[in-house]
Amino acid sequence: MTETRDTVILGSGCAGLTAAIYTARAGLNPLVLEGHEPGGQLSITTLVENFPGWPDGIQGPELIANMKQQAERFGATFQLAHLSAVDLGIHPYKLQTSAGEICTRTLIVASGASARWLGLPSEQALIGHGVSSCATCDGFFFRGKEIAVVGGGDSAMEEALFLTRFASKVTLIHRRDAFRASKIMLERAMAHPNIELRTNTIVEEVLGVEEQEVKGLSVRDVMTGNVTTIPLSGLFLGIGHEPNARMFAGQMDLDEDGYIRTKDNVLTTHNGKVVPGVFACGDVQDRRYRQAITAAGSGCMAALEAEKFLEGHGR
Ligand code: NAP
Repeated sequence: MTETRDTVILGSGCAGLTAAIYTARAGLNPLVLEGHEPGGQLSITTLVENFPGWPDGIQGPELIANMKQQAERFGATFQLAHLSAVDLGIHPYKLQTSAGEICTRTLIVASGASARWLGLPSEQALIGHGVSSCATCDGFFFRGKEIAVVGGGDSAMEEALFLTRFASKVTLIHRRDAFRASKIMLERAMAHPNIELRTNTIVEEVLGVEEQEVKGLSVRDVMTGNVTTIPLSGLFLGIGHEPNARMFAGQMDLDEDGYIRTKDNVLTTHNGKVVPGVFACGDVQDRRYRQAITAAGSGCMAALEAEKFLEGHGR
């Protein structure tokens, strides 16, 4: 017989680890399934300067390691595994994971969202060395430098506008000449003197792999086929995020882009009704803020709700 646990947490980013600290400290002996990207998005950033309590900043991977250590101190256990299937119709929930079956009374979904990347090997090699998907995290490092943002939606406009606070010039590169961005955001970006728009343009290569820092971009005009080089120091991807919630489709209410819809911040629903004992926190349910501190905050809320749920069920 599989033992039934009180709490299983899916995901080991800021939200999942905060939920682990709180549930462990409450004596719920949580099991954290670390997921496909252990440590989440922070584990691929460099210096985090806006997490309260670190006046000189802290490296993203170090912050994550600290949180994990803190959770372990209170008894949280970790498993390098991910969820493959679950039936949320039968409580307690049986999770099929890459490490076998696990049964749990509460499930905290903190599986995050993964930034979309272009998928170029040169781009992947330079993540953290001039290539970033987070303007608020890394914009500060490009003070006085020339950079580019890729994308034609609101995220790209927002990133480009935000980055003008630091960069001397932002080239906004979009693969078409029609934009998904809202009119107001597009107009703001187009009107900004330090933003140059390059439409019908795709990035073919990020230059600087040997030097281990971004030196420029090789771009192709899709109308003419002309390939040119743009010398610059940074590339930001603003081509959207994918919430890691696909496995809950049909069992949980998701919005049109696949983010988990929540009620009272962290309660999950199916056809509008609360799914008992299943909570969502962090970027898998937050398309708006997507900050380490907001993810941590909602991880705390999910943990407190899980505790309340278990208390109500005589645990
Ligand atoms: P989005 O609206 O889906 O836009 C993604 C953009 O990236 C599109 O222009 C798309 O090009 C481009 N793109 C996707 N894959 C690409 C690739 N492989 N290579 C090159 N370009 C690629 O995503 P988003 O901008 O993150 O916005 C998501 C949602 O959040 C939207 O509803 C948006 O309104 C909202 N949001 C709102 C705000 C705000 O109001 N302040 C800020 C951020 C986001 P195509 O157009 O050619 O497909």
